[in-house]
Amino acid sequence: MTEGFKVIPVGKLAVNSTILYSQGEAFIFDPGADSDKLIQFLEENNLSLKGIFLTHGHIDHFGHVKPLKEKFPDVPVYMNEKDNFLLKEELWPGFAQYLGAYLNPPIDSYLKEGDKFSLGNLKMEVYETPGHTPGSVVFYVPQLRLLIAGDLLFKGGIGRYDLPGGSWEDLKQSLKKVFSIFPETTTVITGHYDLTNLGYEKKNNPYLREIL
Ligand SMILES: [Zn+2]
Repeated sequence: MTEGFKVIPVGKLAVNSTILYSQGEAFIFDPGADSDKLIQFLEENNLSLKGIFLTHGHIDHFGHVKPLKEKFPDVPVYMNEKDNFLLKEELWPGFAQYLGAYLNPPIDSYLKEGDKFSLGNLKMEVYETPGHTPGSVVFYVPQLRLLIAGDLLFKGGIGRYDLPGGSWEDLKQSLKKVFSIFPETTTVITGHYDLTNLGYEKKNNPYLREIL
């Protein structure tokens, strides 16, 4: 097990929590629920957690940052500052309880366009992709041609832009940006449900026809 990624769908909305790993180190993305499953994967594979990253500030994605931070108090939590206003919100009344999620995740550091991270042999780049939320970002790992895209793009679909802070104009620009920067062979870990790749979506996703 040198390097790669593991997607673990968690919680009632099947958020694609992702563990990226290389040389015994790991990053976790969007620990929305079931932090025990994520911890179990780290332990079974002797991975040392180095960072917790959020694609955006929706509770189904950040719901289990708190228990992870309690287990790994020295590991920094990263998010774009523009989504701070969402961290106390449930989106809908009773949503946190329904999801078994914790509000107000502790954020240690803010992400911005062009940030670069290293994990073992891997490099990772951060791109701002607003639209679903103002602070939405995607994470790109060039060596794996891997894009962790949150709720920007789905297999056959695109992110919602009708929630607080959402913007159709921004979402369109962000989708254009992603398809113009990354190769068509890029694997996309979407925020929920099936993974896909950019080439497949360019060809088959009806929402992209009027955008790209
Ligand atoms: Zn979302």
